[in-house]
Parts: sequence; C-alpha cells; structure tokens
Amino acid sequence: MNHVFLRHTKTSPPVAVAGDGCWLIDSEGKRYLDGSGGAAVSCLGHSDRKVIEAVKAQMDALAFAHTGFFTSEAAEAVADRLAAEAPGDLDRVFLVSGGSEAVEAAIKMARQYFIEIGQPGRHHVIARWQSYHGNTLGALSAGGNRSRRALYEPLLVNMSHISPCYAYRLREEGESEADFGRRVADELDAEIRRLGPESVAAFIAEPVVGATLGAVPAVEGYFRRIREICDEHGVLFISDEVMCGMGRCGALFTSAQEGVTPDIIAVAKGLGAGYQPIGATICSSRIYEAFAAGSGFFQHGHTYMGHPAAAAAAGAVLSRLIDDGLVDDVQSKGEKFAAALTDRFGQHPHIGDIRGRGLLRGLEIVQDRETKTPFDPALGINGRVKKLAQQAGLICYPGGGTVDGRLGDHVLLAPAFIISDDEIAFLVDMLATSIDRAIQAAQDAA
Ligand code: PLP
Repeated sequence: MNHVFLRHTKTSPPVAVAGDGCWLIDSEGKRYLDGSGGAAVSCLGHSDRKVIEAVKAQMDALAFAHTGFFTSEAAEAVADRLAAEAPGDLDRVFLVSGGSEAVEAAIKMARQYFIEIGQPGRHHVIARWQSYHGNTLGALSAGGNRSRRALYEPLLVNMSHISPCYAYRLREEGESEADFGRRVADELDAEIRRLGPESVAAFIAEPVVGATLGAVPAVEGYFRRIREICDEHGVLFISDEVMCGMGRCGALFTSAQEGVTPDIIAVAKGLGAGYQPIGATICSSRIYEAFAAGSGFFQHGHTYMGHPAAAAAAGAVLSRLIDDGLVDDVQSKGEKFAAALTDRFGQHPHIGDIRGRGLLRGLEIVQDRETKTPFDPALGINGRVKKLAQQAGLICYPGGGTVDGRLGDHVLLAPAFIISDDEIAFLVDMLATSIDRAIQAAQDAA
C-alpha cells in the first residue's frame, strides 16, 4: 500500500535511492542520466561532497531557530554572498524555501513598498503569457500558461498578461529582431497606460523562459526597453530567475546578461541545487530603505524561511559555483551541448527550433518544420517522450502547450554543470531515440 499522494495517481514511479554525479539510481539498480536536473535544479549533480558536508556540519551545530526570534550565521553568510554578487544595488536578501515562495514574496514586497512610500494605489501586476512563476495562487496568477491556470481560474488574482518575447512564433515576416523586441516590449507600455500608471506596482518576467516555453531567451534589447518603460512609469521590474539564474545560463544573474538591473530578483532551484529546499527574493537598497524608514516590518513570512541547513547548503553551492569556477564552465559546456544538439537535430524533420542559453536548452517539436505546425495535442507527444526517455535511462523535462497553452510540444534540457563530453553524447543519443520512438508510437496509435 502506497500512501504518498503522487503527482500522477495512475503511475508508479521507480524509487530513487542514490545519486552519483549526473546520474540517479533506483532501487533496482537502474541508472538514469539526469539531463534536466529534474526541473533545472541539480546544477552540481547528485553527490557533491562539499555541499553535503556543509549541510551535515550545520545540522551538528544548529538545526533550526525561528526567524521571528533569531538570525543565523548560515543565513547571514549566504545573504552576504548573494548581495555581493547581485547586480546594481540589490543588497537585501529575503530567504524562503523555493521558487513559488520567492515569487510570492517579490509580488508582496512590491505591493508593500508602494504603501511604504505613500503610493497605495499601486497594486496591479503585469506578467507575460507563456511564462511560469510557480504554483501557489499568487505566483500562478502571474503565470501565463493557460492549462496550468485553468482549473484554478476562479481563485486567481486578477493580473494582466502581455505577449512573450517568443521570436520563433511571434516575429512577423520581414520584421527585424530589434523591431520585434520593441513591438512586444511596447505592449507593456500600452498595458500600463491602459491600467493607469498610478495603479501599477510591478512587471514580472523570466529573462529566459523555462518550463512553459522551453528555454526561450528574449531578443537583444528587449529587456533594456522593458527597463526603460518601467522607469518611465515608476513600475518595479521583478526578474524571475528561479530557473534560469544561479549560473544556469552562464552568469549567476541572468538579467545582468541582458544589461539591466531589476528592482527585485527571485532565485531558487540552483541555489540549493537539490541538496536543500531554498529560494531568495533579493531587492534593491531603495526598496529595503523604504521598509526601514516606514513601517519597519514586511507583512509576510514563513515558518521555515532562512532555515540554517538550507542556508548552509546554499552557501556551499555558491562557493562551488563561484570559487570553484563552475559557472565559468557553463558558457563553454553550453556551447558544446548546443553544437551536439544542432548536429543531431538541426535537420530533424520534427524539430522546429533549437534554442536556449548556457546549459538551459530546449527543442520545439513540430509536425511540420516548414509551416511550424504543431502535433495534435491528443497525440500526447511530450508525455510519450518523457516516458520513453525515462524507460531508456534518461531524465528530460518535456512540456506541452508551448504555442498557446494548449498546442505545441517541447523538451527542456538542463544538465548539471559537471556533465562530461561523453555524457553529453549519451544524452543527445538517448533523446533522439526517445523523440523518434514517441512520434512513431503516436502516429501508430492515431
Ligand atoms: N519561477 C520559475 C521561473 C520556475 O521555473 C519555477 C519552477 O519551475 C518557479 C518559479 C516555482 O518554483 P518552485 O517549483 O520551487 O516553487
């Protein structure tokens, strides 16, 4: 009898019992190459001794002290490190336990900031279609994936959504990348004006859209225009780097690669690298000072925020990423990975686009490359790829609804930064076989 409320009640997943570098091992001894770090989490693989020892040492010293009464050395140390590395004057760190919590805190922080500075009318949040910001109700309200929202629509907070910067599908015939970027960024300006600038608190976006689009970076200049628009209207820019940040795209902070400084950055996933659940909402000193000069109290918090063991893990992860140079490797490994994907899928009849940055890469699966027509969602292509790949010993992260929340299939890849050339070759090989088999099986079943 199984009492875990599984994500899917009709499946019985293998039991994971061990991790070894980029590999996971189940109770039958079967090995799986983790090609997606679960969901872009395990940036250091599954057996990093330095992180494991740091957590053990923290547990020996202090397991927990509630943040309503204490701070801890581990929390202070990880906040110092994040503040030192964050762009611009982002130097205050609100530690939470995951990505959704980091986004919730960012949205609430933006709202309360405007109360603190005497602009209580600012409450609207603008986000983008086809983004994912988490599954708690506030984060889900910001998210723009229609199928993830549908069931909970009556409970969601009213937020507006503008187009994503998704050039593969939204750039018009003959339109330059720059013109396209400008056009979709200007939707933010139009939406702020429609709502009334004095009522808008924040705009939230992922610099590289992960789970729901499959590794889509914006075109050059898009985020600079976004920053300009936010500044013009006094709106805060929240950069959701939960998936794409912490080195995944080749820099600790992805917004820095776009040449912009957000007002608030949300990070998680790679910050704990899977060794502990942790996230962080990092804000500018201007925002923090408004709280300090105002009520002196952020009306928000969670019991486990700033947990010492999680903070110790994050401190050790940051040391591996920065001091041991692992982030520096992402650029070159990412290029090798992209080249291997292009080699294998560049002429594939059912791969319409190969995209991404660093070690966050995506393939968009289409029925027809020329017309970009997606497969009928009833064929369940992405689900089949996931299942067949896992059976073959590869963990990857396929998703559906890529085009509009209903149509479209993609595969997201996010291997550990320690992946070897041989493992890259194995990953690409297994993936190609799994995609071909999935399409064949779907067509046979139709
Ligand atoms: N934001 C982004 C960009 C994400 O990709 C995710 C998770 O995939 C989240 C937020 C939510 O993070 P979590 O699942 O840790 O709550």
